[in-house]
Amino acid sequence: AKEQGGNTYQLYRSEMNMRSLERLNLEIDLRKAMDRGEISLHYQPIVDLATGDVYGMEALLRWKHATRGMVSPGEFIPLAEETGLIVPIGNWVLYESCRQNREWTDRGFPPLVVAVNISVNQFQQPGFVQLVQETLERTGLDPKQLCLEITENVAMRNVNSMIETIAKLRELGVQISIDDFGTGYSSLSYLKRFRVHTLKIDQSFIKELTTDEENAAIVTALIAMSHQLNIKALAEGVETKAQLEFLRRFGCDEIQGYLFSTPLPADEFERMMRTRRNL
Ligand code: C2E
Ligand code: CA
Ligand code: CA
Ligand code: CA
Repeated sequence: AKEQGGNTYQLYRSEMNMRSLERLNLEIDLRKAMDRGEISLHYQPIVDLATGDVYGMEALLRWKHATRGMVSPGEFIPLAEETGLIVPIGNWVLYESCRQNREWTDRGFPPLVVAVNISVNQFQQPGFVQLVQETLERTGLDPKQLCLEITENVAMRNVNSMIETIAKLRELGVQISIDDFGTGYSSLSYLKRFRVHTLKIDQSFIKELTTDEENAAIVTALIAMSHQLNIKALAEGVETKAQLEFLRRFGCDEIQGYLFSTPLPADEFERMMRTRRNL
């Protein structure tokens, strides 16, 4: 029995080591991933519900690991945040999204707004506003065509510095949206003080929109509230026609989700834009 206990312990310990080793390996690989060209962006269309036109797209990171294949952002973004790698990676995402959007405008697409996810670490960097300004200058993108997505719980952390940074970004002409709204530690009064352009209603509320009365009540209240505050409402994770109809009926401004399109590599996004039909 004693021996067995020892074995269990050994097994447990080696599992622990495996896991931290695995993490360490992933971290080492992530450090090299950018140079190796394994990191890319996919773009998921955002549709204006009133017109049915593509309003813009969210840039989403993709990592194609040499041996593991696709590693999901849910796995490597937290790692990138813990190790600080999110700063160089995030800066690249910002640059590449702006560059790509400007290229599409130059090639005759209607002007689109690209939405870029910004992590806490990035947003709270001292030179962040200047970095955004320089990126816009370098790429020649119209500031109106850039939207920065910040997550609600992040936003709540240091309220006064958040308000200041958002004000400076607004002065640049950049748009701001609050991501995953409803899942963080929300204080509704901050919404007014933050003065954002768009509120992204988290997909967890959209999922059971047409089957769960409470979710439906929350979503309609969020749409009404954002309109009263002069903020646009965007629903994420729209997968069904029934959800779309519900959102249309309650005046949701924009939608994003698999119903219209999954996130696409740049070339496929382009093809979609050329061949698409209205919703
Ligand atoms: P998010 O910002 O909430 O992005 C939306 C996620 O929902 C994306 O997952 C997208 O692929 C997925 N999605 C879109 N439509 C649907 C739908 O109809 N149904 C379902 N079930 N899912 C849908 P993805 O690409 O795996 O990204 C996961 C998260 O990783 C993002 O959540 C975001 O928090 C983070 N992330 C991705 N790219 C970046 C980045 O460049 N920087 C930072 N800081 N975070 C990023
Ligand atoms: Ca987002
Ligand atoms: Ca989101
Ligand atoms: Ca999310």
